[in-house]
Amino acid sequence: MAGASVKVAVRVRPFNTRETSRDAKCVIQMQGNSTCISNPKQPKTEAKSFTFDYSYWSHTTPEDEAFASQRQVYKDIGEEMLLHAFEGYNVCIFAYGQTGAGKSYTMMGRQEEGQEGIIPQLCEDLFKRTFENKDPDLSFSVEVSYMEIYCERVRDLLNPKSKGTLRVREHPIMGPYVEDLSKLAVTGYNDIQDLMDCGNKARTVAATNMNETSSRSHAVFTIVFTQRRRDQLTSLDTEKVRADSSGAKGMRLKEGANINKSLTTLGKVISALAEMQNSKKRRSDFIPYRDSVLTWLLKENLGGNSRTAMIAALSPADINYEETLSTLRYADRAK
Ligand code: ADP
Repeated sequence: MAGASVKVAVRVRPFNTRETSRDAKCVIQMQGNSTCISNPKQPKTEAKSFTFDYSYWSHTTPEDEAFASQRQVYKDIGEEMLLHAFEGYNVCIFAYGQTGAGKSYTMMGRQEEGQEGIIPQLCEDLFKRTFENKDPDLSFSVEVSYMEIYCERVRDLLNPKSKGTLRVREHPIMGPYVEDLSKLAVTGYNDIQDLMDCGNKARTVAATNMNETSSRSHAVFTIVFTQRRRDQLTSLDTEKVRADSSGAKGMRLKEGANINKSLTTLGKVISALAEMQNSKKRRSDFIPYRDSVLTWLLKENLGGNSRTAMIAALSPADINYEETLSTLRYADRAK
């Protein structure tokens, strides 16, 4: 475990209709925070076991005690990250796993009571906490951006008409950023919901056109939350805390010939950061942020003054055994 800085969770989704109709068997078992996966081709061999900060089961009915609700996942992971943002950390929440394993459900969820994912619940909570503030010298602002990284190119999902890709540049103090990426001020949760919907539509269009290649697409939703305390002596606004919260959704993880550069590099960066923490080394120059656009843009969110959570989405079905095992190994390396 990389100190307290990286939280790793896995979440298994219920069977989908395709799996049910093919009479798929469940290969995942969870107990406490450990997850086991058994090989359907070698049922006699021992199941492989992994331990994470959280193992979320949802393969059973919602009445089942072990069922992890959207609320529970938010309470464990989202709320903790939000509190870190208020403390001034850069926070970053990732979901990854095979297509259809539950990344969007976990991050975005559905627009039904109790079905909202981490991002909407976090935004709602963020505004609630700022509205409750009684300190007249403290003011807040919230801005959001939403981008897609596809084949190492960046597209603005909040300005889908802007054809072509945006340039990634580096600011001497603020670090890497995307030039001309829309950053829109929001004053309530509904604003965020509208922007997220608009961005998701821009993604879907691209994904259907790209078919198979959509597996290399990553969506990064960023919330820039600024708290300012008015300095009573000088009457100047002094920026005390600045925090980002990004949700990155890495799609399908493939190893072998068809390497997904961003996801592979993300794994290396997280492992290198964990190693640095564990060995108490404070040198960060060997961390390969620059090897992919995703890790370069998230540099400030992953290393340094930051807190990261990763949620690996899993299918329960035997037919997805290989992909699910590789997702579990990926999550295991992040610890
Ligand atoms: P991904 O974003 O990884 O491609 P989705 O989030 O779209 O996958 O999930 C695929 C389907 O499974 C969706 O219909 C989603 O609502 C459902 N699903 C995923 N995870 C869960 C869960 N934990 N509980 C209930 N339904 C889920």
